[in-house]
Amino acid sequence: MKRETPSRWKSMRKVELHRHLELSLRLETLLEVAPSLGIRIPGWKQGEKLTEETLRELHKELLILKPMQSLSEVLSKFLMMQKAWASEELIERLTYEICVDAQQEEGIAVLELRYSPTFIQGASSLSFEKIHEAICRGIDRARSPSFVAGPIGILQRTLPPKEAEQVVHFFIDHRDKFIGVDLADREVGFEGTRFIHLFEQIQKAGLPITIHAGEEPHPESARFIRDAINHLGATRIGHGVQIIHDPETMEFVKEKDVALELCLTSNCLTQAVPSMQEHPIRKLLEAGLKVTINTDDPTIFHTNLNHEYDLLEEHFDFNRALFHQCNQFAAEASFLPHFDVLHALSLQGGE
Ligand SMILES: [Zn+2]
Repeated sequence: MKRETPSRWKSMRKVELHRHLELSLRLETLLEVAPSLGIRIPGWKQGEKLTEETLRELHKELLILKPMQSLSEVLSKFLMMQKAWASEELIERLTYEICVDAQQEEGIAVLELRYSPTFIQGASSLSFEKIHEAICRGIDRARSPSFVAGPIGILQRTLPPKEAEQVVHFFIDHRDKFIGVDLADREVGFEGTRFIHLFEQIQKAGLPITIHAGEEPHPESARFIRDAINHLGATRIGHGVQIIHDPETMEFVKEKDVALELCLTSNCLTQAVPSMQEHPIRKLLEAGLKVTINTDDPTIFHTNLNHEYDLLEEHFDFNRALFHQCNQFAAEASFLPHFDVLHALSLQGGE
């Protein structure tokens, strides 16, 4: 049920910095475990043979294939995928499969996987420790000299202050088991600056920071990006796509040597950009910004990293040299140990 179209970029060794673990799971596994977890999937009966037609119907039920019109429209799809993260065993299995598919199907050598402990807790009721240990076991089982991966902890902006503090303290207490911290969810109405004191503690603990900022079109998008860097200590920006409307902030980001984690398909489907053609990725690269290529939520957006490369080649004339450049930027900006990153990238998959 993955994207089966062969891509000529499959064997290129790649780095991905921005992928949400929870929405990257194998659909086959979701279908397999759905009945035992009481997940009702419209149009799907357990054991039913997957014909092309059932598959098309299932994709419509489970995935986001057209630009989103409203949040409620996609919420049920998010919740269906959330429910699969129900036990330690499943968390480990799903994580392991995500890592294996990334290596074998997408030629990924370096993968940063971000997740929100509060989101997974919503499905599993497990402690943060148990969730994190299961994720680390999944990653460790998939690790090889030619594949390195690590978890980034997400703080959800929408959390009340007390809960946010608990999550951040969990990250800090387990700082040797996280490669970095992220702040995610809607910016508008949930400004990151509410969490300045927590991000000071994260910086003091030595954890690198990336922040979702400047994703949605909004008059203050550029300021959100500057705030993430100036006040929250971000050295990378998740999306930041709206920066194109503010040349001064573009200069500022360049000066600060901050990499942008761009996600083409995601930006189109969430309507962060009006259309694929209007995505500024090429312009940002030409302006000298450190652009990296990412999938965000590959399963729910029905994409993978090869497909993103295909789209960039088709719509923006990206060639091998540009992809190589973006992978260099991503390798340099990675929160994983630099030696492991370079070593994994230098090897062929499976070595
Ligand atoms: Zn994201």
